[in-house]
Amino acid sequence: MRVLIAEDDFVTRKSLERLMQQYGECDEATTGKEAVDCFRMAWEEKKPYDLILLDIMMPDLDGQDALQQIRDYERSRGIVGFGETKVIMVSALDDPRNVVRAFYSGGASSYLVKPIREQKLYEELEKLGFNLKSI
Ligand SMILES: [Mg+2]
Repeated sequence: MRVLIAEDDFVTRKSLERLMQQYGECDEATTGKEAVDCFRMAWEEKKPYDLILLDIMMPDLDGQDALQQIRDYERSRGIVGFGETKVIMVSALDDPRNVVRAFYSGGASSYLVKPIREQKLYEELEKLGFNLKSI
């Protein structure tokens, strides 16, 4: 399984990486633009990410806009439904507007509010069909 962790805060990024390592190969991006670039590159290499953890507040391009570009890219290539990369939005922002935007206009798979607790993350992964036994 390939995972992309897009998070500008070093400590959060490292802690997410520590939690995700057992699931598979983790790449890191520190801006929204970098996240979109990594996503495209992975498709071009025909090794798309199975999961992206996407922070909302990031420099360059925020997570919401990055998600939009990711979904646009998928749509332009006819990738829909199960073919879509699962995206978990990770944010300190838990205001309803951001949550609604992520799900309804962005097509996020899940939304987690920081700080990310290990148990909560693993529960969400399980809901999305990622569990360690099947890897
Ligand atoms: Mg941030």
